[in-house]
Amino acid sequence: MNNHAAAVLADPAIDPRLFRATMGCFATGVTVITTAHDELVHGMTANAFLSVSLDPPLVLVSIGRAAKMHSLLAPGRRYGVSKLSEEQEHLSRHFSGKPVAGLQPHFVWHAGTPLIADALAHVVARIIDAHPAGDHTLFIGQVEYLAYRDGRPLLFYRGQYGKLAAV
Ligand code: FAD
Repeated sequence: MNNHAAAVLADPAIDPRLFRATMGCFATGVTVITTAHDELVHGMTANAFLSVSLDPPLVLVSIGRAAKMHSLLAPGRRYGVSKLSEEQEHLSRHFSGKPVAGLQPHFVWHAGTPLIADALAHVVARIIDAHPAGDHTLFIGQVEYLAYRDGRPLLFYRGQYGKLAAV
């Protein structure tokens, strides 16, 4: 354990920068969460995504309350999850609020829900529960559609994009 961790253990007020840096030591894949409302498609990059239960099949995504996506999700609505491939880093940047000039993302549709074309894996889930959790909400969804293909994932670790050295 380094000096940063020792400092936090001695101080009950958690430094947000240290919180981010420490949580960032967990390598993840990258998803784009999508939904359609009044026929308008909205997407946002998220890595706080996980599978929750096999029976019934449940997944969860944690969305910041300040995000536009937060206002579009509610119990009964659906969200799509597109797990990005290593060729899709530009889409992760774009959907995290750093628009790529001239980019026109391609969507495919399943169960009335848009998904990012050519992603490594697709999930469509109907929201069955929304749990407020601090400045985020945990949207638990029951899976209604699943598909995946072979390929290499985009990774995110300590604030940087990365690729698998080998699969
Ligand atoms: P906006 O910021 O308004 O839009 C997001 C971007 O997508 C904009 O550039 C917009 O132009 C574009 N866009 C949206 N819809 C379309 C469309 N139909 N066609 C073309 N472009 C479109 N935040 C979380 O809350 N939870 C997380 O788990 C999370 N994980 C992240 C992981 C990574 C690796 C990164 C980089 C960011 C993560 N974020 C997460 C932050 C989040 O992606 C940003 O705060 C994002 O900007 C929030 O999106 P928004 O819904 O507020 O929409």
